[in-house]
Amino acid sequence: MTGDRSVARQPLAAAHRIEMPDPDALTGPQLEGWDCALCGRRLIADQSLGTVAWTCGSRTREVELWVCRPLCGEGLEGA
Ligand SMILES: [Zn+2]
Repeated sequence: MTGDRSVARQPLAAAHRIEMPDPDALTGPQLEGWDCALCGRRLIADQSLGTVAWTCGSRTREVELWVCRPLCGEGLEGA
């Protein structure tokens, strides 16, 4: 740890070592934040996973992905 910067909010993906999903493999609702980006279920309580660069046509934009809260099974063991 080189802590000269206060860690306010670490992206969830980094905190849990989750690989960000490929935005091309996600559905519209997942990209829109309606469905979980990991398990695909409709979100009732959500949390931000982090952002991915999504290239659509000739444009690339940052899309924030949302996942279940509490976090669904992916990347988590036990507890
Ligand atoms: Zn989920």
